[in-house]
Amino acid sequence: MAAYVEGLAPQPGEGAVRESGSSVPADAELAATRAELAAARRRLAFLDGLAAHVAECDEPTALLDGLARLAVPALGAWFGIYLVNEKGGLELVAEAGGAAAGAAVEAHLRRGARARIERSCECGDVAVVDELPAAPGGARAPTCAVVVPLGVRGRSLGALALAGAARPGEPGGPDVPLLVDVAHRLAFALDRARLLAAATAAAHAREEFIHVASHELRAPIATLRLTLHLLHRDAESGTPGACAARIKVLDRQVARMVALSETLLDVTRITAGRLELSPQPGDLAALVREVAERFRDDAAEQGSTLTVDAPSPVPCAYDPLRIEQVVSNLVSNAVKYGRGGPVRIAVRAAGDRARIEVQDRGIGIAQADQARIFGRFERAVPSRNYGGLGLGLWIVKRLVEAHRGTIGVQSAPGAGSTFTVELPRVTPP
Ligand code: ADP
Repeated sequence: MAAYVEGLAPQPGEGAVRESGSSVPADAELAATRAELAAARRRLAFLDGLAAHVAECDEPTALLDGLARLAVPALGAWFGIYLVNEKGGLELVAEAGGAAAGAAVEAHLRRGARARIERSCECGDVAVVDELPAAPGGARAPTCAVVVPLGVRGRSLGALALAGAARPGEPGGPDVPLLVDVAHRLAFALDRARLLAAATAAAHAREEFIHVASHELRAPIATLRLTLHLLHRDAESGTPGACAARIKVLDRQVARMVALSETLLDVTRITAGRLELSPQPGDLAALVREVAERFRDDAAEQGSTLTVDAPSPVPCAYDPLRIEQVVSNLVSNAVKYGRGGPVRIAVRAAGDRARIEVQDRGIGIAQADQARIFGRFERAVPSRNYGGLGLGLWIVKRLVEAHRGTIGVQSAPGAGSTFTVELPRVTPP
């Protein structure tokens, strides 16, 4: 470590001060002490600037850009920050220093099967690379780079790279302990900024959810109140035929509210990991026929015909209530988003798997939305056109996966959608 302090300390020209022509060892010691003091002051000033920047910056991009600007020329000629992206690759997200020199350094650090930056991230080691290629920039072009990993809570976030004209330990060379300190502070600040962003997004999603859930509750309650009022009037005027129709409406609205509260309870169960299955052998084809029958009126109201293509029994082991819920959700979506077109449900055995397909000819789903609609609260339609909580497919996917099955969708906007569920035919553990 002493060598690195030395490396930072004697900036060219610094430490060579000699007083009144004396050459006794005490003068050299004094000069060295002064140089160390100057280096310590520079380090403190840099860390002060960094602390102030981190304290006032919650947003990751501004945090990274600000650090890069602080680092050049204080720490070296070129400074780059690499972060692990969503695909697991490393991306240069901020840099400062000569762009051309930086590009040459960056290309060199990335080159090779086990590139320096990746190796540093994997092992958590500091790497010194001193065979940098000649880069535009003449005599002051960087010749040496130091790569320091950015790790926090046992995870690698990426790495810092600093390039300059000297090696660690040489006059004007990089202060590696300081860089390690900077990397720790940055990793911590980035982690904090990401946690804050995630917490803010979660709070926003919860607010949105409460808003949509109360809206969804209001609609059946309003219908309930109105229908009760009409029922009361019909009962008083003695029109039993009208009463029967009103009671049917009440029944459907109550069922809608029960389904809504079940959905909310399922979200809590799934989030808390309390989803339990009671699998038992059964005929999946019969279950699908039964569910489809329940949707016949709803489909007819939308002008849709509902057909079940299940020519033979499909023996399978599953939790009947939960798979009923899966099929109900898919069929109700097919009717809801089906624009009055035909809805076809097919059930087949395919080797050791059972396959259910729910197909509609409705609005369809754009390619870009097809993965995210299985996420919590995710919707690909405007709320003003279609009511819904954006929870149905999220729950369906969890239920299917709890059965060790899979769910997928094939769709194109305007051409309809086909949701396919595959379940193993053996009992899940
Ligand atoms: P909700 O229907 O309450 O919005 P879901 O989780 O069931 O929630 O569906 C999520 C989103 O997926 C819907 O908002 C809609 O954009 C899309 N979606 C689901 N099923 C279909 C379908 N059959 N056709 C077109 N879009 C669909």
